[in-house]
Amino acid sequence: MARGGDGLLTHETFPGEKGPRDACGVFGVWASDEEVARLTFFGLYALQHRGQESAGIATSDGEKILVYKDMGLVSQVFDEKTLSSLPGHIALGHCRYATTGASTWENAQPTLGPTASGTLALAHNGNLTNTRELMAHEREKYGTDLQGELGRGSSTDTAILSTLLRGDDTDPDPSLEREALRVLPMLDGAFSIAFIDETTLYAARDRFGFRPLVLGRLASGWAVASETAALDIVGASFVREIEPGELLVINEEGVRSHRFAEATPAGCIFEYVYLARPDTTIAGRNVNAARTQMGRVLAREHPVEADIVIPTPDSGTPAAIGYAQASGIKFAQGLVKNAYVGRTFIQPTQTIRQLGIRLKLNPLREVIAGRRIVVVDDSIVRGNTQRALVRMLRGAGAAEVHVRISSPPVKWPCFFGIDFATRAELIANGLTIEQICANIEADSLGYISLEGMIEATAIAQDRLCVACFTGDYPTRVPLGANVHQGVLPLTPLTHEED
Ligand code: SF4
Repeated sequence: MARGGDGLLTHETFPGEKGPRDACGVFGVWASDEEVARLTFFGLYALQHRGQESAGIATSDGEKILVYKDMGLVSQVFDEKTLSSLPGHIALGHCRYATTGASTWENAQPTLGPTASGTLALAHNGNLTNTRELMAHEREKYGTDLQGELGRGSSTDTAILSTLLRGDDTDPDPSLEREALRVLPMLDGAFSIAFIDETTLYAARDRFGFRPLVLGRLASGWAVASETAALDIVGASFVREIEPGELLVINEEGVRSHRFAEATPAGCIFEYVYLARPDTTIAGRNVNAARTQMGRVLAREHPVEADIVIPTPDSGTPAAIGYAQASGIKFAQGLVKNAYVGRTFIQPTQTIRQLGIRLKLNPLREVIAGRRIVVVDDSIVRGNTQRALVRMLRGAGAAEVHVRISSPPVKWPCFFGIDFATRAELIANGLTIEQICANIEADSLGYISLEGMIEATAIAQDRLCVACFTGDYPTRVPLGANVHQGVLPLTPLTHEED
C-alpha cells in the first residue's frame, strides 16, 4: 500500500485528503532525549481503539520532516525497520478510523505539505463543520481556489485545514505560529489537532472541546495525546488538558499558550459512554467511574427480576458491574470476546458471514443456560447487533433476556467526528421503546435517562454535548446538512454490523 515502495515521504510529496469524516487518535512528542518515533508508536498503540484502519508517524530532526503511514493497525504498519527510519526529536502520530469507501492510503494521516515557512505535518481528530465557508473566505480574501488546489472530490476538512495553514509565500517573515493564530479562530466544529514543522510541536483544541486532548511531561520534553491513557503508557505524567480554544506551542524554549477563541465547553458525552478507554480521565472524570455509575443509575431506573447480569464486552463491562452492584444481582461473564478481531481486510466466507456476531462474541452456555439474564450494552445504533445477541443468548439456553442500555436512544446524527448512521437508519428514530424491544426480540428493554447519564459523568450539563440524543447541537451543523434525514450515509464508528 505504501507509496514509493517504502511508504516514506519527504515534503516534496503532498497527498490530498479525501473521504468522509472519521474518529481518530492523535499523539505528539517534543523531547531532546527520547526515541520519539518509538514513543509515538506506543502512544498510538494505546489509542488504537480510536482508529483502526490506518496509522502514521511523522518525525523531524530539526531540518527535515519524514512521514511513514499505511493502512492497517499500528502494529501492522510499523516495525523496527520503519521506526528506525524516522529520526529526530519531534514526532507526530495518528491512527484513523476511515469509513467504508475512504479506506485509502491517501486518507491516512499525518498529512504532509509545504508551507511558506517550511513543512507542515498535521494530525486531526474531529470534523470541521464550516469547510464551505472557509473555502469561500480564502477565495475572497486571497483569491485562493482551495477546491482547485486540492483536486475535485478531495476537499475534506483535514486537507483544507492543512492548506489554510500553509501561509503566504510572499510574506517576508512567514511563521506557522502566526498563521495558526489567523486560521484557528475561523474554524467551526470539532478539532483536536497536533501539527509539527521542522522545529516545533503545536496542539490545539476547538472552543467546544468536543474531543479530548491532553498535555504530558516527559523527562526531557513534552507529549500531547488524545487520551490520558496514552500518556500513562509512555511514562509521561499528566500536566493538564489543552483548554478549549487554546493553542500550545512546544519547542526548545518550553511550552507557550495562546488563546485563539473564548471557551464554550461542550465535551462529547459519548466519550464517557463508549469512545474513550476506561482508564482515561476527561475533564477530571475517570471514564470507568462514569460508566460504572451509569450502570448503577440504570439499575435504579430500570430494575428487573433476574439471576445474572452480563456485559457486552468490553465497553458494556463497567456499566454491567455498576448494574450488578446497585441491583444486588450477581455479575457474570456470559460472553467471550475475541480480543484480536479488530478490523480485517479479509472477507469472511459466506458460512462465517452467516454466523455474524460470533466472529466477535461467543456465549458461555454453562453461565447462560436456564438463567434469567440482564445484558448491559453501551448503546443501540441500528439494532441488528442487539437482535443477534438476544437470539444468541436464547440459543445458549437463556430463560429470559432483559437488555439494558447505558445511554439514551441515539436519534440524531453527529457532525463532530463520530459516524453513527443516517438518521433514517437509527432504530430509535421513529420507533417507541416497546417497538425497539420487540424488534430486538428482548423480554424487556431499558435505556438510561438523559439526566441519569449526565449525572453519572459528574459534569455539568451545560459543559457537555448531548446532541445525538436530543438534536440540540452546540454549534451550527454543516451548510446544506439535513439533520432530519442525516447527511452521513456512512458506516458507524465501531458498531459496524449494528
Ligand atoms: S453529537 Fe453525540 S457523538 Fe457527536 S459530539 Fe455530540 S455527544 Fe458526541
